[in-house]
Amino acid sequence: MDKTMAYACKNIDSEIRLKSSSGGVFYALADNVISQGGIVFGARFNEKWEVVHSCCYNVSELKYFMGSKYAQSQLGNVFLHVKSNLNNNRQVMFVGTPCQIGGLLKYLGHEYDNLILVDFVCHGVPSPKVWQNYLHEMFDDSEINEISFRDKTEGWQRYSLRIVSDKFTYQKKKNEDWYMKGFLKNIYLRPSCYECAFKGKVKESDFTLADFWGVEEILPEFYDKSGVSLLFVHSEKGMNLWRLVQEQFVSQEVSMEMALEKNRVAFSSSVRPSGRNVFFSTMGTVQTRVKKATEDYFWLKVIKKLRKLFRIERKRV
Ligand SMILES: Cc1cc2nc3c(=O)[nH]c(=O)nc-3n(C[C@H](O)[C@H](O)[C@H](O)COP(=O)(O)OP(=O)(O)OC[C@H]3O[C@@H](n4cnc5c(N)ncnc54)[C@H](O)[C@@H]3O)c2cc1C
Ligand code: SF4
Repeated sequence: MDKTMAYACKNIDSEIRLKSSSGGVFYALADNVISQGGIVFGARFNEKWEVVHSCCYNVSELKYFMGSKYAQSQLGNVFLHVKSNLNNNRQVMFVGTPCQIGGLLKYLGHEYDNLILVDFVCHGVPSPKVWQNYLHEMFDDSEINEISFRDKTEGWQRYSLRIVSDKFTYQKKKNEDWYMKGFLKNIYLRPSCYECAFKGKVKESDFTLADFWGVEEILPEFYDKSGVSLLFVHSEKGMNLWRLVQEQFVSQEVSMEMALEKNRVAFSSSVRPSGRNVFFSTMGTVQTRVKKATEDYFWLKVIKKLRKLFRIERKRV
């Protein structure tokens, strides 16, 4: 294939779309691979609610892999497992951050026809330690039964963090929960995420998944409250698989300009805020540290704006 193709798409099964972060592309690709006897590697929670990479042979278990988890996933010895399956001629699909895909390719050392690589547009991943601290502080010893970072009860764009425990259900919109605020303001991303070496690099994956942010303005007739995906297909192998599942979607080819118009993260790294140092040098709970980091950040922004205004006024005088 001589160029990457971009599509707006939404899975026609509304239940799949609701459980997925955007339009449910991951589920359709994974379902196809497993149904042909393949194996899928992706991120899920373990029994301590840490995010870990693991594998799935069974369509009924795909639900554990669906949805974005906003913490860096632990890879463990998953690359070894991927390689042994590839060498046994099994179809393998691996989903991960662009840097995890880069690491896997380096480890494998050469291309495999039976490997499908899926990455996503990546805002960056938060420190797993901050995630674990937050959970312990908020939920103490309650038994957690379910976590969704992208609950769509109030819609795909107004998503919430939802945590169901044996004692209560916690649900807060992304701009009301302190962990999500810290994540979205880039307070505790991994240091490499602020200078991501994979932004703007020629893609080595077969697919890149993303949210189609701005679809309501760019392609208003395509907007859907329960989620719209942006799908990039980079390779012939990817295109063959996309053609097999495409009928499960309402989809439309879009230009690169349309696809990237409101998705700055696709080509540039998240900015390291001054609040990051404040967060990591302050004692206390995650909540109080995010409050302090974002308050200081807020005032720094105000001072910067005032200084700029003042300079403009002096020039006028
Ligand atoms: C940390 C993170 C940051 C993201 N940032 C952006 C962004 O800024 N802009 C944007 O447009 N899209 C971003 N995405 C991608 C987007 O949120 C959706 O994941 C993507 O559109 C796929 O949605 P889906 O509905 O097809 O499938 P989903 O069912 O949502 O698929 C989720 C897939 O992602 C994998 N995954 C989940 N969490 C992790 C993790 N922590 N590490 C590695 N793999 C994981 C799962 O294994 C699964 O394969 C991000 C995703 C993650 C995980
Ligand atoms: S932003 Fe870059 S370095 Fe950070 S997790 Fe994503 S791909 Fe890796």
